[in-house]
Formats: sequence, C-alpha cells, structure tokens
Amino acid sequence: MVRTLKHYIGGEWVESTSDKVTPVVNPATCDVLAHVPEGTLEDVDKTVKAAEAAYPEWRSTPILSRAQYMYRYKALLEERFEDLARVVVEENGKTRDEARGEVRRGIESVDFAISVPSFARGYKTEDISSGIDETAERQPMGVFAAITPFNFPMMVPLWFLPTAIVLGNTYVLKPSPQTPLSSELMMEILHDLDMPEGVVNMVHGGKEVSTAVMTHPGIVGVSFVGSTPVARIVYETCAKHGKRVQAQGGAKNYIVVMPGADMAASVKNIMGSAYGCAGQRCLAGSVVVAVGDAYEPLRDELVKQASSLRVGYGLSETTQMGTVISASARERIERMISEGVAEGATPVLDGRGKTVEGFENGSFVGPTILDGVTMDMSVARDEIFGPVLSIMHADDFDEAVELVNASKFGNAASIFTSSGRDAREFKYRVNAGNIGINVGVAAATASFPFGGKKDSFFGDLHGQGPDAIEFFTDRKIVIERWF
Ligand code: NAD
Repeated sequence: MVRTLKHYIGGEWVESTSDKVTPVVNPATCDVLAHVPEGTLEDVDKTVKAAEAAYPEWRSTPILSRAQYMYRYKALLEERFEDLARVVVEENGKTRDEARGEVRRGIESVDFAISVPSFARGYKTEDISSGIDETAERQPMGVFAAITPFNFPMMVPLWFLPTAIVLGNTYVLKPSPQTPLSSELMMEILHDLDMPEGVVNMVHGGKEVSTAVMTHPGIVGVSFVGSTPVARIVYETCAKHGKRVQAQGGAKNYIVVMPGADMAASVKNIMGSAYGCAGQRCLAGSVVVAVGDAYEPLRDELVKQASSLRVGYGLSETTQMGTVISASARERIERMISEGVAEGATPVLDGRGKTVEGFENGSFVGPTILDGVTMDMSVARDEIFGPVLSIMHADDFDEAVELVNASKFGNAASIFTSSGRDAREFKYRVNAGNIGINVGVAAATASFPFGGKKDSFFGDLHGQGPDAIEFFTDRKIVIERWF
C-alpha cells in the first residue's frame, strides 16, 4: 500500500482536495516511494490563508525569539542528518556522499538565518533638518513562497525558508513533485519545533499549483529555482501580479583549461564538476574549452578517469555516480547525445544504454565525453543536465573567453591556469554570476549571494546572504519631529 502525501497547512497534515496523484519513484530501484497529490486551487488558498493568519503574531514576535527556533532546528537537522541524506538518495538518485554534502549545505543556510538578527538593521540620520530625524526601518512583508526543483530537494528550500521566517515573514513551500519526500521530512522536523501554527506551510503539486501560488493575492514574493523556460514564466507571472520575484534558471557552465595549468588537479576538479550528482547541478561543468597544447593531455586523462567511474545505486558506499532523476530524463539526455553525434561531435566515451547489475530498470546514464564540439552544435548551447562533458578547442585565451561569453546562460564559469594575469582577465571579462579560479564548482556559501546572469537568472536580488535580507524585507522611511 503506497501512502499519499499530505500538505502541511497551519501546523497540521492535511489531505489534498484532489484525488489525482503522481508516483514518486526511486530512480535506481523503480520502487514507488509515495504518491504526491497534484493539489488544487482550493489547497493553495487554504495554505496561503493559514500563512496570512499567522503573520501578525509572528511579525511581532521578537526577532531573537524567531532566531531561537532556528538554533533548535539546526540541532534537530544534525540529529537526523543521516536520515535526511538517505531520503535525498532514495528519491533523487545521487550518491550518499553527495546527499550528505547537500544536507550540510542546507544546514549552513540555517546557520546564516541564525545570524540574520545581527545584519537585518535599518539606518538613521539625525537632523536632516533642524530637530528632524530620518530613519529607514526594516520590516517583514507578509507571506513569501518558494517553488523548488528536484536536484537539491533539501538544500534549495533551506536557501530561503529559514531566513524569510527569522525576518518575520510566514512561508509557503511548493516542492518539486519529483522529490517531495525531503521537503516532507524537513517539515516534520519544523513541526517538532512547536512554532506558532501557520508560520511554515507546504503545498504539493505541479504547474497548476505553482501558477496558483504565483497569482494568489496573499503572497508578496516568490523565490523560484528551476529550468530557464519556467523561470521566465515565473518572473513574468509574478511581476504581472505585483510580487517580488527572484527566479534562478538553468545553466551551461564552461570550464577553460590553459596550457601550463596543473593538469592532475584540473582533471580531478573537472571530473567532480561534470559528473558530481550525475551532472544534475546548476553549477555542473558542461563544456571544457582546452586552450592550445592543453587539449590532448586533458582529453586523454578525462577519458581515462571518466571511464573508470563506478556507476550504481546511491546507497551503496562504493558508488561514485548515481542515476539521473527519471526514465524520461535519461531519454532526453541520450537523445541530446545522439543529436550532438549527428551534428559532428565524436563520442570518445559513450554512456548511452548504461545498465547496472541488480538495477536493470534504473535511470542510469554512463559518463559521456563528446570531443570536437563546436559552438553551432546543440550540445554546446543547450542545457543537458546529465553526465555529459563536451570538449572544445581554442587557440588562445581570448578565443576561449569569446566562446564562454557566447553562451546564452551565465550561471558559472571556471578557469584552470597557473597565470595570475589570465585569472584576473577571466573574472573581469566573463559574464557569469559565479566564477571559479582553479575551482570546478564555484558554489557561493550561505552568507554570499547566489545567482547567475543572462538566461540563468531573472530578477535583481539573488538568493542567500545580504541579498536574501533585502529580498525578504522592505524599508519604511520615518521622518520624525517632536514639538
Ligand atoms: P523545473 O523548471 O522543471 O521545475 C522547477 C519547479 O517548477 C518545480 O517545483 C515544478 O513543479 C515547477 N514547474 C514546472 N513547470 C512549471 C510551469 N510551467 N509553471 C510553473 N511551475 C512549474 O526544474 P527541475 O527539472 O525540477 O530542475 C532542474 C533545473 O533547475 C535545471 O534547469 C537546473 O539548471 C535548474 N537549477 C538552477 C539552479 C540555480 O541556482 N540557478 C539551482 C538548481 C537547479
């Protein structure tokens, strides 16, 4: 008997008013782990109303008391650390170590939320005119919501929710229907904190429920993380409905390797970047641009190391790369590899048709390397979101920077070099939100803002860090005179 998940509304687990459900499938074993309700407009309305009702009392709860809940949340997340990581592996397919890394990053966002009272201040100028003072007071705004993707089901909701509520807002989470179990466990742990009912809420569903969240008059702002086409819709819909919005989209991250770079260290980092989480990271390296003489040794070493990666079920400690999220993701990735080959790329390592003993129906794609890729090929331009690395060749640094900047995406870009001049020019000239210098995954830590440029981000204030404090609060100007 497979259970059907419930929404979390006003401190209670509530059945959906819809009986339509989608299976949540373990992508390695194909076991159906649960059914997630599709959700309805009525469900969304009930959820938002619970968050609205909780707002006045929560807003006037002292900020230090609000932060205290997050100290206890952190302690409980640490206690349940291995359970959280296991749930991520089961529903997402990544390896246990990758899931542990994700949970650790999520807890770091809770750490940041705990520090928020030290930063969330207004400012004041005395005597803007004789005997008149002016103050900018920082205030929460109401109900915020997050619409989150499958690939970091634990970490991404934690980028937003803890900071938003410590700042005095109440919250609605709409997790990915592909990976709702991590969010369910996060909510169960939040429930154990005995916060006032309605401060945090969760509503399940897909496109229809997302749309209801984006258009509901009770919601003041939306944080979105997902693919670029949906990010664009979210940005436009929220703006049309008068909401604040930050919409983080897809990516195509380039990695430049210069002659003279430390080859062993570069390859190790590129391997982690391209094949970590089976390439399903918005910061995953997708195209390597080998400059000049770096090309041949780099390609040979990448092929050698990628072909020896152990692909398997994430819960097995010996697995180095897990599955992709679903059978349809696997089909899409294999189709994109085939398109690249049809367009002239050489599959020097081909992960299509990968099977793993004991998990014959699992959604595995083996590590893939396409050589001789050029900018006119779809594999150089479009997001693949799988374990596929394309290799391009550039004659010099300037040509490499041109290739990187030709991408419509701008989430991240890295350079491997031993030249300070190249490193400086790269970070100066490359139009991406996150730059790695001899670092393959340039992931901002919780106290720094995180977001891309171009088609990788729609909005102005990024997630995390000081931007999050700005996003979740407004300033009110008070001009004051006493007779
Ligand atoms: P997705 O865009 O398919 O879904 C994201 C969320 O949007 C889910 O909750 C989904 O239910 C909802 N949704 C789907 N279609 C919708 C629609 N038409 N209208 C409204 N809501 C809709 O993304 P995904 O496949 O879950 O995640 C992978 C994508 O996320 C990749 O493109 C990846 O690059 C991106 N991503 C970006 C970042 C970042 O920080 N830029 C981080 C993680 C993932």
